Amino acid sequence: MAAPASVDPRIVCTPGYDLTFLGLERLHPFDGRKASRAWRAARRRLGAALDQRTLRPTLPLTREQLLAVHTPAYLDQLRSPAYVAQVLELPIVARLPSFIIDWRLLRPMRLGAQGTRLAAEAALRGGLAYNLAGGYHHAGRDQGQGFCCYADVHLTLAALRQTGALAADDRVLILDLDAHQGNGHERLAQADPQVFIADVYNQDIFPGDWAARRRIDLDRPVRSGTGDDAYLRLLRRLLPEVTAAGPFRLAFYIAGTDVAAEDPLGGMALSGDALRTRDRLVLTALLAAGTAVTMLAGGGYGPHSYLHLADSLSYVVETWGRGRGELGPGPGQGVSMRSG
Ligand SMILES: [Zn+2]
Repeated sequence: MAAPASVDPRIVCTPGYDLTFLGLERLHPFDGRKASRAWRAARRRLGAALDQRTLRPTLPLTREQLLAVHTPAYLDQLRSPAYVAQVLELPIVARLPSFIIDWRLLRPMRLGAQGTRLAAEAALRGGLAYNLAGGYHHAGRDQGQGFCCYADVHLTLAALRQTGALAADDRVLILDLDAHQGNGHERLAQADPQVFIADVYNQDIFPGDWAARRRIDLDRPVRSGTGDDAYLRLLRRLLPEVTAAGPFRLAFYIAGTDVAAEDPLGGMALSGDALRTRDRLVLTALLAAGTAVTMLAGGGYGPHSYLHLADSLSYVVETWGRGRGELGPGPGQGVSMRSG
């Protein structure tokens, strides 16, 4: 597939992403309605321009599609309330019937994984797409962990290769800037030499997976409390190394907002300004290098995470939706991309 002639971003989001759970979601730091709250906040800013750019997944990934990456034994294990309670770090889930868990928690995540696939397909067509869910980067072939049940990035890679949207030798970048180490995709990439991984994460928090860490190509651990200056300095040094390792046909940019200062889990100390600068630096570097970019929401656990997500989404639509960016010649002319 040829590279797109201009950047024409798409947003992937549906109210079906919401994890609502008979009120039990209030017991978990995760805001189960983060995606739809962010979309609505951005809609107030952007108006109908956002509707026109939004794709709404309707069908969650099927068991057959999940088997492209996950083992049958693992998918069966997700029927056990005790097991899902452990993955979600929410003990009370162990006392619920498995059909409720599937309907209210697992199905929205399968829809989120479908959203990652739709976003990647849209990115291959239009240069850039943003799924307001996904980035379930702790999920492995045969285990869930850290609130991640389905390995959406590798499920998407399997689907794109199967349909021919990605050729077997197309190189793919995973740029993981969530606060946590992406050990799930790192373990899955052990058997996937076409995948190149750059990961910046807080090494003082979960998961501390030293075996998975060996698979990271550009490994950039930071410490708790890392603030704007050190973080952005690191990112400005890292991005030229990332693009020099290309070309990549497609990137998954896991844009977790749990790096924000007020996040209860991320342990980092970034301002909202730094998050916006992060998105701008990443998208400018990757799009200029001719790489189609799939942005994924990743983690973000505070009550205000959705506002960072809304900011990020607004930036994508306002800047790249008009063909401007830092590369662009101006509205209507688009951004020229070379083949990746
Ligand atoms: Zn995270």
